[in-house]
Order: sequence, then C-alpha cells, then structure tokens
Amino acid sequence: MTVNLISDTATQPTAPMLEAMFAARVGDDVFRQDPTVNELEAYAADLFGMEAALFCPSGTMTNQLAIKCHTRALDEIICEEKSHIYQYEGGVYSMLSSVSMNLLRGERGKVLPGQIANAVKPHYDWLPRTRLVVLENTCNKGGGSIYTLGEAAALVAESREHGLAVHLDGARLFNALVETGESPQAWGTTFDTISICLSKGLGAPVGSLLLGPTDLIDEARRYRKVLGGGMRQAGYLAAAGLYALQHNIDRLADDNARARRLAESLEGLPFVASVSTTETNICIFDLAEGLTAARFLVELEKEGILAVPFGPQTIRFTTHLGVTDEQVDYVIDRLHRYARQGAAPAGG
Ligand SMILES: *Cc1c(COP(=O)(O)O)cnc(C)c1O
Repeated sequence: MTVNLISDTATQPTAPMLEAMFAARVGDDVFRQDPTVNELEAYAADLFGMEAALFCPSGTMTNQLAIKCHTRALDEIICEEKSHIYQYEGGVYSMLSSVSMNLLRGERGKVLPGQIANAVKPHYDWLPRTRLVVLENTCNKGGGSIYTLGEAAALVAESREHGLAVHLDGARLFNALVETGESPQAWGTTFDTISICLSKGLGAPVGSLLLGPTDLIDEARRYRKVLGGGMRQAGYLAAAGLYALQHNIDRLADDNARARRLAESLEGLPFVASVSTTETNICIFDLAEGLTAARFLVELEKEGILAVPFGPQTIRFTTHLGVTDEQVDYVIDRLHRYARQGAAPAGG
C-alpha cells in the first residue's frame, strides 16, 4: 500500500471532475472570452459576497498579486512569522513589490490580539510605512490551526484602526469553515482580499482564486498578465475548480477527522516527543531525542508511507481526498508496529 501524506496538493482529479473538464466550453481568457473561467470567477465572487475574482495558476501568485495591489515600494507587511507568504514564497515580496516584513510571533501561526497595534510603525522618513496585514487560515506551519471569524474580525478591526488593509491567505480556508460552520460570505465581507486554493484539499489539479473589489482585481489582472499568468483556454482548468467548489467542500470534514485520528494515535508513542494540536487536515509532531526526521521518513517509506520533514526532528502528515480511512488504519498499524520494535529513542 502507498499512502501519500506529503501534501494535499497530491490529489488526482476524480472521474467526474475529469468529465467536467472534458465538457468545458472554452475561449481566450486573456480577452476575457473564456465562458468557464468567467463562470468560475463569478461563482466564487458570489460565494464570498465579494465583487470580483481572478483565476490564477497558483496561490503564490494570488497572494503576491494581493501584496502588489495593496502596497507601494518601501511599505511593510505585518504577518506572523510562520506565514506562507514569508516562509514559502521565495521572498518574492521583496522583488515584486519592494516591501519588507514586520514579523510577529503568535501562537501556532496565529496573530494574537494587540500584536498588530503594537507593531504598526509611526510615520517617520526613516521608517518603512506599515500598509498591509496578512492573516492565514488555516495556518499551514501552525499545524492547520483555525482562526474563528470572531478572532479574525477583531484583528481586522485592529488593523483598520491603523489604516491598514487586510489580506487573508485562505489557501485552506474551507478546511476551517467545515469545522466552524461559518459561511464564506461572512469571511468575504470581513477582509479586503482573500486568496483560496483550488488545488489543495478541494482536489483540482491547478489553480487559485484572488477575491476582492473590482478595481483591485482589474489591477491584479494586469499584473497577472505581465507575470506570465495570462492563460488562454484556461476553462479546462477552471471547470475543475468549479467542480471542486460545487462538490468537494463538505468532504473536507473527512480529511480533518482523519488527520485528528492520526494525531490521537501518535500521542503517547515512545518515539514521539509531542504532537501539536490538530484541528484540520495537518498533523505536525516532534520525534523523541535520538530519532531524526530523515531516519524516521526512511522507515516510513519502507512501509509505503510518504511524508515530509518540517524541521530536523519534526514531521508533517497531511490528509486529502486521496487518503482513505483504510489507509489511515494502515498508517496507525505501522506506527504501532514501529513503536513495538522499540526502534525509538535510546538506540539513537
Ligand atoms: C499552498 C499554499 C499557498 C499557495 O501555494 P502554491 O503552491 O503557490 O499554490 C499559499 N498559502 C498557503 C498557506 C498554502 O498552504
């Protein structure tokens, strides 16, 4: 058996999704004449109660277009230090938008109340100008942690008191919403812009959406084009995204439950030092002294279980629509077997 817990980007399109792609009507989206891209953008904007949406090749692009549109050169962005925009987007905010980062240390990737107000810089010629706050829900490096709408809205209000715009990196927002029961509209009317990924747990092969006011999205569309993101008959991809939004949201609750089962099974195993709180589809855990992530991953791979290191002694398991209950049972069985073999701490 092979179990791919590397990332929820590993999903393969299902048969009905592929059928939707085959059946898509397409046109040249650079001329805004692709009916399926237009339909996806309108559907998503409506879902979030926002004015407009832009279909992009990746979440890195939607986040970076948002940063580009919200800031000017020499501005700074406030975000938590575990943020994807800081950790995993190649530092391109510095190249594309000529801005710097003002990093906060929160909890499990979440910004705490009061931290934004404390971090805003006064207006002096020698200081960067604080312009934008970026929050992430769920927070990947925070172990898939959830902001409730109440928590996020309070941070947005704190930001607005200081004249700051607020972008939400909602790559996995739906993994949070299936837990809280909150509506996309409630989030859409709270933030200035939101980025969502179609190619993670929602199961589309490619694509992300940037949502926001029409004038900002029009500006983002220009930058998308010059960055090489103007795709022509992109409706084949948009059809997968549309299918994902219409059929694959509710089932994210299964992914979340499976990751929580994995987390529970890891608790108390002799080779595990600690398991971070697992609220959604990401389970991060630390290995006991003497066992490195590299060695543990080799042991897992021998059993057909694939995962990624998240530090020298830290592992991330991610569930998605390609991971079944049966596979989770299998992983749990192998973890227990590994524990029984005593392949743990003391031996090194
Ligand atoms: C995956 C992800 C993105 C976007 O990544 P791409 O690989 O560029 O699509 C953005 N933010 C978070 C939190 C993510 O997990």
